[in-house]
Amino acid sequence: MNKTLADLIKISNITGKDSTLVQGGGGNTSVKTPDGKYMYIKASGTALKDMNTRRGWRRLRLAPVLSIIEDNALAKLDASKREPEVVNRLLVACDDKVIGGARPSVESHLHAFLDKCVIHLHPLVVAAYVNAKNGQREIEKLFKNEKFPPLWVPYTDPGFMLAKKIAKLVGDYQKKFGRKPAVMILQKHGLFVTAKTATAALSLVRKIIKLCRSKLKEPKLPKTKSPNGSDIAVAKSAIHKALLDSVGLDMPVSHFPDNKPVAAFMARKDAAKLVGTPALNPDELVYANGSAMWLEKCDVKIITQKLKSLLRKGQKPAAAFIIKDLGLFVATNKKNAPLIAEITASSVLIRMYATKFGGVLALNKRQQDFINSWESEAFRLKLAKGKS
Ligand SMILES: [Zn+2]
Repeated sequence: MNKTLADLIKISNITGKDSTLVQGGGGNTSVKTPDGKYMYIKASGTALKDMNTRRGWRRLRLAPVLSIIEDNALAKLDASKREPEVVNRLLVACDDKVIGGARPSVESHLHAFLDKCVIHLHPLVVAAYVNAKNGQREIEKLFKNEKFPPLWVPYTDPGFMLAKKIAKLVGDYQKKFGRKPAVMILQKHGLFVTAKTATAALSLVRKIIKLCRSKLKEPKLPKTKSPNGSDIAVAKSAIHKALLDSVGLDMPVSHFPDNKPVAAFMARKDAAKLVGTPALNPDELVYANGSAMWLEKCDVKIITQKLKSLLRKGQKPAAAFIIKDLGLFVATNKKNAPLIAEITASSVLIRMYATKFGGVLALNKRQQDFINSWESEAFRLKLAKGKS
């Protein structure tokens, strides 16, 4: 196997196995070839931990990928025309024998202008800062002794405009510090590290995680007795009925007991307030339909009312429910339930952490609307491709 691909698989599998670093199919990685002509990058549809020499990646010619970001005509297009065009150009730039033609990561054009190895993750301990009101100030304090501090990237809609914004900020950084940033911290999103070798990139990830964790305290676990089976069954059918009555959704409901962040969260007096803000990041919005619904007690009428109120506000019906003393419930098909449970548990942990840094900073209405339409656009593209 060639060294570049071996490095890509290595950095992907090592980081992807750790659910505190990346959840579900999130995050992406890339490595450029020594001649600078190609870039191996994660393909969408495969999780980092599942990538291997046969699948989960694409090889792209770098020159056409770099030209995407410099194309000013693209910047002038409306997002609904621009994003599919970018995906098309990325597919055209693919040069490999990978079967199935999976789409290269939508962040390929962003990876292209960074250093040789790139690792992008959504670590919980980084989210504690990027989803907090005073997050930027806290990050600056944390890295104040670094000669080359991380580049802070204010929230930008994903896709082409994010790559464009980062290209500009990287240029400004280079003027100021004489080199490109090795670490980028993206508001309401996550972490990018970039280095000359796979080993250096991995050790940079470990360094950032250690530093970010140093200011965080694991939430205290309360002493509680586990709920009994009949209460769980009542709660499941209440959630099922409320979804049916309010939105006409007939979804199986699963219970996820013994979840540490959820147990700590349920014991807090500010629980309602903490999940009162919308989705923290695109993943929570897309997979879990936004933040979990908090319930002081299990009552079909209250759940129905709350679901209807979400719909009136133009939000999607919640998929995760946390009921005091009973724990976490997820209403979706059996296959997706564990992922939504993981995203929700991560989200309540991040929300608890964020209270230390001025409070939770979530996606605003306009940012949510963009993600929703962007996702449906991406979805339509996938459908079109599946048919061809
Ligand atoms: Zn990401």
